[in-house]
Amino acid sequence: MARVLVVGGGVAGLAAARRLALADQEVVLVEAGDRLGGMIQSATLRAPDDATATIDIGAEAFAVRGGAVERLAKELGLGDEIVEPSALGSWAHGAEGPYRMPAGGLTGIPGDPGAEGLAAAIGDEGVAAVRAEAELDPAIGAEADSLAELVRARFGDRVLDRLVAPVVRGVYSLDPDAVDHRVLVPRLAERLREEGSLSGAVAAMRSIAPPGALVRTVRGGMHRLVQALEDECRLLGVEIRLGVRARLEGDRVLLEQAPADHGVRAVRGRAPGVETGPLLLSAPLGECRDAPASDDERFDRILITAESALGHTAPPVSTEVVALLVDAPELDAHPRGTGVLVADADADADAADVEAKALTHASAKWPWLDEAVGDGRHVVRLSYGPTVEGGPARTLDLDDAALRERALRDASTLLGVELRPEQLLDLARQHWCIPQPAARLGRRDELDRVRTAIDARPDVEVCGTWCDGTGLAHVIPAVDAAVARVIAQ
Ligand SMILES: Cc1cc2nc3c(=O)[nH]c(=O)nc-3n(C[C@H](O)[C@H](O)[C@H](O)COP(=O)(O)OP(=O)(O)OC[C@H]3O[C@@H](n4cnc5c(N)ncnc54)[C@H](O)[C@@H]3O)c2cc1C
Repeated sequence: MARVLVVGGGVAGLAAARRLALADQEVVLVEAGDRLGGMIQSATLRAPDDATATIDIGAEAFAVRGGAVERLAKELGLGDEIVEPSALGSWAHGAEGPYRMPAGGLTGIPGDPGAEGLAAAIGDEGVAAVRAEAELDPAIGAEADSLAELVRARFGDRVLDRLVAPVVRGVYSLDPDAVDHRVLVPRLAERLREEGSLSGAVAAMRSIAPPGALVRTVRGGMHRLVQALEDECRLLGVEIRLGVRARLEGDRVLLEQAPADHGVRAVRGRAPGVETGPLLLSAPLGECRDAPASDDERFDRILITAESALGHTAPPVSTEVVALLVDAPELDAHPRGTGVLVADADADADAADVEAKALTHASAKWPWLDEAVGDGRHVVRLSYGPTVEGGPARTLDLDDAALRERALRDASTLLGVELRPEQLLDLARQHWCIPQPAARLGRRDELDRVRTAIDARPDVEVCGTWCDGTGLAHVIPAVDAAVARVIAQ
């Protein structure tokens, strides 16, 4: 039996600790924050009549591709609780107004010129460009580095601006010019060569996707997956230490007490129980103390799921999620389906009519939440990123009153329904410092260097969103692979 230290108590660390414990390893998990779950956290919205709705304020779903997340949920006894979103479709909001996002694409890239809604989204000229793409030489764009370069070379600007950019900005907080398509959609360029066109490649990749929706969640929210992982870890004897931060130094690992202000506690407003502050990316090292037991502690292996344990952290992306509980029967008709991606969120902030980069009509998307909030009430989640110049999320300096006003204005614009201040029953906000996305152009080389350095340490393995990609469908299979390497050592 080996003694393994797992660093980080997000979903990667918890899933790894569970797998290791199941393989009869002795596991200690350290989490620098005061709660587990990392970017999967809940928030409770409370109406003045004390009715509550608990929602996800971080990750709210998982991509079904590969099946690893669903397998994990089933192993945890949540198989019957896996649910699909309502088939309402989603919208985008551009300078010329709202339009439906056509179905059947991949990261917004169209797979079929005849797809329903494509002409409404990109016009006849855009559809003609999608048709013409099938006849282009497959070599065109195949060597492109960025996703923007690839899409522009194949289809032109309209497809890029109206279909791809909103998805990439809204979901991955990146501009398509800064996205390495080889990381975001592995093998896309190879499939382009094999199929003869990018739309053909997308159609082929979509055809092997499992039937049904591309994403699913756990009824009640993804935070239930974290709770189930924590429960099982404790049952299996995993020792969980909160408020403890690990740092590799030479051939030693230092376990330090994390400073009390670890993470960013940015949830304010009336909602109780939402004081989440899970991310450590910028806490001052100077305030740390060595944990007392550190000297006589020995670990045979270390599995790191947080980059900061390596002593450096690429600049994170600041994002604020703002959840609103509103009394608005006008939204019963779900005017923008499951939500809206903003096509020009990073354009000149003064000229743009909304500052949010995306809106999820959460109670329209998830029937279980619709039931939980009751008649005429709705939950809407907005996300705000930095301005084009970078820096913190653009809402971060707003106090609650100003944020309420901004969020109501943006939600009204994006939903096409005027929401008045008296309709707002509660608001929760959460600031996220999202690790530098692995799909950012240039990041792959940085991560290769990290992995090469780690390869020299047979006792250390790494996995997690910071090195494996954004989203559970990237993280969970990578955890399984890393655990297999740890066990094989
Ligand atoms: C707003 C938002 C929405 C999202 N929506 C989705 C979605 O719908 N679907 C999806 O699949 N993905 C989504 N994601 C991404 C998804 O949440 C992440 O990919 C995934 O949860 C990452 O898990 P992780 O364990 O790798 O990292 P994290 O969740 O970041 O966990 C790392 C943990 O390590 C801790 N830590 C850091 N440094 C140290 C240290 N030195 N020592 C000890 N502990 C340390 C941190 O406090 C943290 O708890 C979303 C993310 C955000 C922020």
